[in-house]
Amino acid sequence: MALDVGEITSSVHRGLASGLRGQVVYPGDGGYDAARAVFNGMIDRRPLAVIRPVDASDVVRCIEFARRHVLPISVRGGGHSVAGHAVRDGAIMLDLSGMKAVQVDLEKRTVRAEPGLMLGEFDRATQAFGLATTLGVVSVTGIAGLTLGGGLGWLNGRYGLACDNLRSADVVTADGQMLTASTQENEDLFWGIRGGGDNFGVVTSFEYQLHPVDLVLAGALSYPLSMAPPVLRFYDDFVKAAPDELSTAVSLAVTRTGEPTVSIVVCYCGPIDEGEQVLNPLRTIQSPVVDGIQPMPYTALQGARDEGFPSGRLQYWKSGWLRNLTDGAIEILMQFVPQMPSFASGVGLQQMHGVASRIAPSATAFRHRAEQYDFLILSQWSDATDSDRDIEWTDALFEAMQPHLEESVYVNNLGDEGPGRVKAAYGQNYPRLAALKKTLDPDNLFRANQNIDTSRI
Ligand SMILES: Cc1cc2nc3c(=O)[nH]c(=O)nc-3n(C[C@H](O)[C@H](O)[C@H](O)COP(=O)(O)OP(=O)(O)OC[C@H]3O[C@@H](n4cnc5c(N)ncnc54)[C@H](O)[C@@H]3O)c2cc1C
Repeated sequence: MALDVGEITSSVHRGLASGLRGQVVYPGDGGYDAARAVFNGMIDRRPLAVIRPVDASDVVRCIEFARRHVLPISVRGGGHSVAGHAVRDGAIMLDLSGMKAVQVDLEKRTVRAEPGLMLGEFDRATQAFGLATTLGVVSVTGIAGLTLGGGLGWLNGRYGLACDNLRSADVVTADGQMLTASTQENEDLFWGIRGGGDNFGVVTSFEYQLHPVDLVLAGALSYPLSMAPPVLRFYDDFVKAAPDELSTAVSLAVTRTGEPTVSIVVCYCGPIDEGEQVLNPLRTIQSPVVDGIQPMPYTALQGARDEGFPSGRLQYWKSGWLRNLTDGAIEILMQFVPQMPSFASGVGLQQMHGVASRIAPSATAFRHRAEQYDFLILSQWSDATDSDRDIEWTDALFEAMQPHLEESVYVNNLGDEGPGRVKAAYGQNYPRLAALKKTLDPDNLFRANQNIDTSRI
């Protein structure tokens, strides 16, 4: 039975909240605006109610309620999807951010983690035991959406993506069932949530493989943008031949005082003396203005960029996979970066390398397995009157880069760019994802996401 907006508050309250352990926030309640806010300040959506489950049984109850009353659902992990899929107008918003339990199993070197954890919270808990697994590179991002879409970070060369380190997950599906997905149980679902994750249910618990991670040799080499051509050409050859222990990224930006710069950021995850030797050619071939590479705790590296990504700024991102830093691609960057309209913006190239690049494209729903870069234009600004200016610059750079980019895109960086781009994200894995969606969520209850369209089987 469908409810109209007027009935929802009392109905949720009677039929749902009475049996829930978690909190419910309604429009008009004091905390409503804070509860519906997500990382991207462009997103201003009004859910019917925000429900904060404390455990899987609360999640089951919410899903049954939404299904019974034909109400759309959105699911919030860390709230960092730039498309703002954690919140939807007129939906029941399941805000999992209170579910933060994390339990390390030292014997098995695994961790069970709930979906409300941010990367920094997860890393702190595992690094207490000298262990870590691949997550992203900004510690205030949520583990849930990141892992379900792939999860590219500083340990990808040595240990693969976040989703490659997933051993199992507990998932509440659209019919209210709780399934455990792993290589032994519900294998198809396990395949699908490693890259196509938020289409099939609500993950209430992740189990990851951990690895010993001590100090890492990490930091940035910075140069004026005028040095970008020789620096980036050398970098491109160097990092492709580097051992798996080295994962890297490039960042192009304009400082607050107006100087365009290029930085190479590295993380060597292995013995520090070996890392010094490996990195020596990169550090000496050109003279950087700043060489900040030094041994540091992994958590220090993970938190180093957080200040650049406060919640609430207006965000507009465009991305695609880039195989090679060719002269043509570098020329475009040289042309556009000095015109970057906001000091808070940047262009990033996050390297996929080593273990992450060698896994078969069909082994998980995440298919982009190659030595390559996730090319990302991260435009962010604070004043809404600047929006046209920043969006125009972003679109123009993205357009200019088209001849150099693959047709595919990493789903976790997508905005609302239409079904064609979602299809481009999954490519040859799309039909299998669509078949799985048809089986597990035939009514498309989970559609506040990069949606798998079952008519495309
Ligand atoms: C500052 C910043 C830095 C980033 N850095 C990286 C990086 O280094 N590497 C990288 O790979 N990506 C990176 N990303 C992209 C990131 O992976 C995505 O934004 C991801 O969606 C964030 O997950 P979340 O849980 O915070 O987001 P949310 O917005 O909460 O969720 C994203 C999607 O997942 C769904 N979802 C969330 N939790 C669950 C759940 N438990 N069960 C089912 N569905 C769920 C949501 O409904 C939504 O569709 C970055 C993003 C930002 C904003």
